[in-house]
Amino acid sequence: ELRRVERALLSVSDKSGLIDFARALNRLGIALVSTGGTAKAIAEAGLPVTDVSDLTGFPEMMDGRVKTLHPKVHGGLLAIRSHPEHQASMLGHGIAPIDLLVVNLYPFEATVAAGKPYDDCIENIDIGGPAMIRAAAKNHNDVAVVVEPADYAAVLSDLEAHKGATTLTLRRKLAQKAYARTGAYDAAISNWFANELGDTAPAYRALGGALAETMRYGENPHQWAAFYRTPDQRPGVATARQLQGKQLSYNNINDTDAAFECVSEFDPTISAACAIIKHANPCGVATGTTLGEAYARALACDPVSAFGGIIAFNRKLDGATAREIVKILTEVIIAPDADEEAIAVIAGKKNLRLLVTGGLSNPRASGLSLRTVSGGFLAQARDNAVVDDMELKVVTKRQPSEAELADLRFAFRVAKHVKSNAIVYVKDGATVGIGAGQMSRVDSSRIAAWKAGEAAKALGSTESLAKGSVVASDAFFPFADGLLAAAEAGATAVIQPGGSLRDDEVIKAADEAGLAMVFTGHRHFRH
Ligand code: 5GP
Repeated sequence: ELRRVERALLSVSDKSGLIDFARALNRLGIALVSTGGTAKAIAEAGLPVTDVSDLTGFPEMMDGRVKTLHPKVHGGLLAIRSHPEHQASMLGHGIAPIDLLVVNLYPFEATVAAGKPYDDCIENIDIGGPAMIRAAAKNHNDVAVVVEPADYAAVLSDLEAHKGATTLTLRRKLAQKAYARTGAYDAAISNWFANELGDTAPAYRALGGALAETMRYGENPHQWAAFYRTPDQRPGVATARQLQGKQLSYNNINDTDAAFECVSEFDPTISAACAIIKHANPCGVATGTTLGEAYARALACDPVSAFGGIIAFNRKLDGATAREIVKILTEVIIAPDADEEAIAVIAGKKNLRLLVTGGLSNPRASGLSLRTVSGGFLAQARDNAVVDDMELKVVTKRQPSEAELADLRFAFRVAKHVKSNAIVYVKDGATVGIGAGQMSRVDSSRIAAWKAGEAAKALGSTESLAKGSVVASDAFFPFADGLLAAAEAGATAVIQPGGSLRDDEVIKAADEAGLAMVFTGHRHFRH
């Protein structure tokens, strides 16, 4: 499986490391063939090199568009050395084998990144380079292909270790890299075209999505936007049936997803549940014996923020609940189903969107979560951890009561769906104060407590709704202050992942405040 390298073809735009590499190849007795600029650089270094034009009998032409596109080159790359007919063809046509191909492509991506004009970008689409790379990679059983200077060292050490031959292991690895490079190159060209054409779909198809619809605009009116569906068929905003209302906007879809993913955490056979979302954060989540009760309790958590919100339910929407909803402005309702009466009530609000999903999104299902960063994207597994599956450890002297424990689980379930830093106060299966998205945990604690006071005022009560509540934190309390803020607000029990360096200090503070505290061992960051 070793293949001796007799002859190498070098054709590189990025000439870094070229001369040292060529010199080393020459020292190993390997004959060098090369294209215009590359050949010139090698010759100037005093190394023997054959111009590819001498090999093909054709000059480079059409501004370099045609230099290596010739059977003498492609035959030399593609011929199976052990194949008698391939051998005969080589002999018959004077084709000499090329055992090592060293190519890096015209800098298309760099040309685009530099903001060069259209014609420059087009001229920087390499044709012969990818053709040779793909040919050599196909024939990796006999030929080694190198597509970037970073691999010169590995190739040299393979050659040096095997008396001027390469191993099949290395050739296979190089072939894989070669196709990754030509694939990425063509994707870059296609994406550039798409952008030029104002067509945004192809760029994102690469992520496995199919264009579902284009929106009027994105998060803001000056941003274009489109919605893509992936093969993941989980019930949710992407697969829902819209029964009525205007087209969903970018922000609607984002918030509706957050709402439905949150409400799907609540088993509909145990209780009805409702989640109201604004700006992708819950402003009220509650359970109840009926959807109507769940809605009223969710709304009471933060009636000011709930205005213009997105509402998700875990059961079939009924008429009575629909009649309550239409009393205030709501953007979207999403539920597994809706009965005829509910549909008739909602029909009175032309703009209100009603979506039915046919089921809930399994919170334990695996999935992919993506976000872009400049120059790339981050991928991670969906957060499919569920508090019911976690081993809860009581760390304080006081054990939580049954009722506290039920609320603690509820609170942690909701905290998973609140942007970090997340602090969630819960009483009797309903949120009473939510602190979201703050840069410090203690600020989230304070905001949640303040909101619990505001919610009480809205109900005409002077006693904060946080009195006698429990509190969840999506990540550990780094200091006792956040916990003490919760105790001061009236929380009696705490649920958090634990794992801080200062856990001892935080536990001690909890004990002193008479709190019961449980650790979940799982964090629910959400950014
Ligand atoms: P050089 O600097 O040696 O003149 O050109 C090297 C570049 O030409 C490499 O990036 C290589 O991929 C590219 N190349 C080699 N053969 C051809 C060809 O036949 N057509 C085009 N368009 N580019 C080629």
